[in-house]
Amino acid sequence: MTNPLFDLSGRRALVTGSSRGIGLALAAALGQAGAAVVLNGRDSATLASAREQLAAHGIAASRAAFDVTDEAAVNAEVARIERDEGPIDILVNNTGIQIRAPLDQFDTADWRRIVDTNLTSVFLVSKAVVQGMIARRRGKIVNILSVNAEAARASIAPYSATKGALRMLTKGMCVDWARHGIQVNGLAPGYFDTELTRPLVADPEFSAWISKRVPAGRWGQVEELGGAAVFLASRASDFVNGHVLFVDGGMTASL
Ligand code: NDP
Repeated sequence: MTNPLFDLSGRRALVTGSSRGIGLALAAALGQAGAAVVLNGRDSATLASAREQLAAHGIAASRAAFDVTDEAAVNAEVARIERDEGPIDILVNNTGIQIRAPLDQFDTADWRRIVDTNLTSVFLVSKAVVQGMIARRRGKIVNILSVNAEAARASIAPYSATKGALRMLTKGMCVDWARHGIQVNGLAPGYFDTELTRPLVADPEFSAWISKRVPAGRWGQVEELGGAAVFLASRASDFVNGHVLFVDGGMTASL
């Protein structure tokens, strides 16, 4: 029998950027723990395929196609989900992009895109969802950070800056909303094999670096993030607030 502390039955979880990769794996884990899952991404066809993948594992999910950087779309879709499906009890702010270039050559439009997608979106979606959480005096928000919130690496300075800022935003959200019965925590993955990291996975030199640099000696598999997400979304973490949980095979332990 599952420990009831981790039971998410009767809860609804919106996971942003969940049409593939880490977001889809987190949605699957929350769904397996009993939550009703709402998938998000910009492309309806990819979302439909993600929903089918979950259905094949017996997990029911609905879809909400919207761009998390578009404030009007965010507000309209959050209102629609809550009206048509029910309250959002769990929000996972997972959407993120990486654009790689040395900082002196970094395009200003790309800078704005990465800040909008990785950071401003968390403010927009959380602000829309938290209104209902405050009214119900209950809610769980999980922000997806990165080991790159802690350590800079070549050609990803803007990405690291957004993740470092997200770490402080997580603490600020916790401090503002804890009194309303809301917990806001960060989940920081190490290096996982997804579309975002595909160029790195394909580079044998980088994979050799991973096997030396990560104490576990390997890339993470997205399913390995599910337990931490369920913990941070469940009653088991009701007094854990403003914390960042690293799931990185020991990488930050040896920075
Ligand atoms: P992927 O590129 O595989 O997936 C990104 C998801 O976000 C897709 O579903 C994509 O769908 C969606 N998305 C992108 N832009 C938007 C937008 N503007 N509005 C709505 N949805 C959007 O990335 P990962 O799964 O690898 O990464 C997920 C998160 O994990 C990110 O925050 C990333 O920074 C973080 N992370 C990843 C690590 C890794 O090793 N992979 C390590 C550390 C952190 P679509 O494009 O169809 O809209």
